[in-house]
Amino acid sequence: MEKREELYAGKAKSVYLTDDPDKLILYFRNDTSAFDGEKIEQLDRKGEVNNKFNAFIMQKIAEAGIPTHFETLLSAQESEVKKLDMLPVECVVRNIAAGSICKRLGVKEGMDINPPTFEFFLKNDELHDPMINEYHIRSFGWANEDQVKAMQSLTFKVNDVLKALFLDAGLLLVDYKLEFGDFHGELVLGDEFTPDGCRLWDAETRNKLDKDRFRQGLGGVVEAYEEVAHRLGVDLS
Ligand code: C5P
Repeated sequence: MEKREELYAGKAKSVYLTDDPDKLILYFRNDTSAFDGEKIEQLDRKGEVNNKFNAFIMQKIAEAGIPTHFETLLSAQESEVKKLDMLPVECVVRNIAAGSICKRLGVKEGMDINPPTFEFFLKNDELHDPMINEYHIRSFGWANEDQVKAMQSLTFKVNDVLKALFLDAGLLLVDYKLEFGDFHGELVLGDEFTPDGCRLWDAETRNKLDKDRFRQGLGGVVEAYEEVAHRLGVDLS
């Protein structure tokens, strides 16, 4: 497979076309951004850690029978994926209260959310990714009925798989964001699963080991990602 021109540059990844119209190459950069791109820094090794972390998690998700776009690791910072027609919505599942739900609903950080809750957000930086509901999605045509149902059930299925995986490594999966797309009529998990897009706390100390370290200026961002990877047994060599 041959790498062609850049299709799109996101805040932390660049996406390249290939000579296969059904395949893309994701390049995980060292850029780290928060607050809709207001805070941006380069963090050494982050691209490589996230690329390898994402490959590991995508394989676990696929083994559980959830369709993903991931194909194979190509290099330290690159992976081959299926080219999806992405839906412009973000799916968030929360097991423990943190982040925007605390501000929005006045719930205390650290509170168990039982049963885990689900939220849709519109992918739109200018509007700061507003929360939306299923009616908005259907009325404005961002996804159809079947896709809405599938996004909800697959996102919860990922929760069952990953909550257990992280707990075995002494980590609490607090919340996470997933994005989906269409691949020849099938709804498939796209984007990435890394500590940039989820919250992970040490199960004993509740220390933050995810992008909140960057958002909150706590330092040791990549070191925390490496710690998580090490505990899961991700090969970072
Ligand atoms: O900010 P909020 O609390 O709504 O985020 C919920 C989860 O979704 C967090 O794990 C966060 O990292 C992730 N997220 C993301 N990209 C966004 C918004 C949220 O990865 N644009």
